[in-house]
Parts: sequence; C-alpha cells; structure tokens
Amino acid sequence: MERPHHLPAPIFFQRPRPTAERPLVVMMSACLGGIHCGVDGSTYGDHSALRSWLLRPEVRLVRFCPEDHVFGTPRMTPDIHGGTGFDVLDGRARVRFEDGSDRTDELVRGAMAMRDLALREGVELAILMDVSGACGSSVTYAGSRFTETPRYQQGPGVAAAALIRAGIPVISQRDDRSLRMLRDLLDGTRTLADERDHWEKEWYQEYFAQRP
Ligand code: SF4
Repeated sequence: MERPHHLPAPIFFQRPRPTAERPLVVMMSACLGGIHCGVDGSTYGDHSALRSWLLRPEVRLVRFCPEDHVFGTPRMTPDIHGGTGFDVLDGRARVRFEDGSDRTDELVRGAMAMRDLALREGVELAILMDVSGACGSSVTYAGSRFTETPRYQQGPGVAAAALIRAGIPVISQRDDRSLRMLRDLLDGTRTLADERDHWEKEWYQEYFAQRP
C-alpha cells in the first residue's frame, strides 16, 4: 500500500533544529490542542501527552477548529458523502449533518479559514485529528457515521485537504513514526525505533486491502 503523500517527506526532518528565535510553526486541530471544541464540547480524549513535548519555545502552535468556526459548539457532526475532502473542495461530494442537512458550503468556508490562517502564520506542518470530516488526513468516514454499518475511506477531510493543497504536510495523532521524527528534530536526538504511521498499521492495511 502506498505511503500517503500528505505526510511530511523524510527530508522535512533533516532541516536545522528549530530554536526559540526560529521556531517551527505548527498548526494543530484545536481539540488536540486542549480546546473543548468537539461536537459535544469535549476534546475527544486526553491529548496532554502529545502536547507535553510540543509546548516549548522552539514550536509556535497555531490552534484552530474549522467546524467551531462555522457551526459553533456543540453542534451536529458533519460527514462527507460521495468522496473525500478533495472532492468536496472540487464540488463533487457533499457534507451533511446526521439529520441529512447539507452543510457543504459552511464546512468549505471553515476549511478555507483554516488554510488562510495557516498561510498568514507561515505554518510549516499540521498535526490534525484523524477521521474527522474536517481534520481527518489518512481516514474519514464514507458517508454518515450514524448508520448500523459505518464505513471508512482513505483520504482527507475538507480542512485537511485545503491545507494539503496549500502545500502543508499533515500528520495525524496516530502517525507515530512521523511524530517520533518530529520529536527527534526538536530534541536533537535520533530515537526512532519501531514506530509506524497509521497507514502502516494492521487495522489500516487490513481494512483497506479489502476495499480498493
Ligand atoms: S473540526 Fe478538527 S479541530 Fe474541530 S473538533 Fe473536529 S477534529 Fe477537532
């Protein structure tokens, strides 16, 4: 199975070690950044372990929630119907809440706001929450997640797609190899062991091997 192109290339991590004077600018899904912006007002779990090594002078975090930006919190859950986030941006797929209402235009607006903020701030890398119809990068739901047999698909959500098209590499909270390489870059170490990115793990390989 092919390595997703949205992940940072190995050369990304060969740059000079960031400093407080020249920090790495990282966009982060606001929920991963500890902001209670999930559809239910949560942060979708405790992500403090991830933040513990990112909160340092050598990193400038830019936190943003594209869904909260346009829908507010709490809200219903937008999922992509008929394609990936790229297809939504190109007008070939739609975004719907679980009540069936079409929310495509709003989520595209939120995605563009996230992309524009990233470009204004000089973001070099994004760390986003996977599976979200907005922030997902490796995996999103194919259609509504509120069915008896929800299905997953490869490909980004709408906001992640906008960032990828702007040339910004994306890591999800499940991409352990890339996260380790980022931490090594920040620490000035080389500790990579057997971490794997999400696409290399059993679930992804087995699930998508059965679904072309
Ligand atoms: S849209 Fe992104 S930042 Fe907002 S709650 Fe969902 S995953 Fe988190």
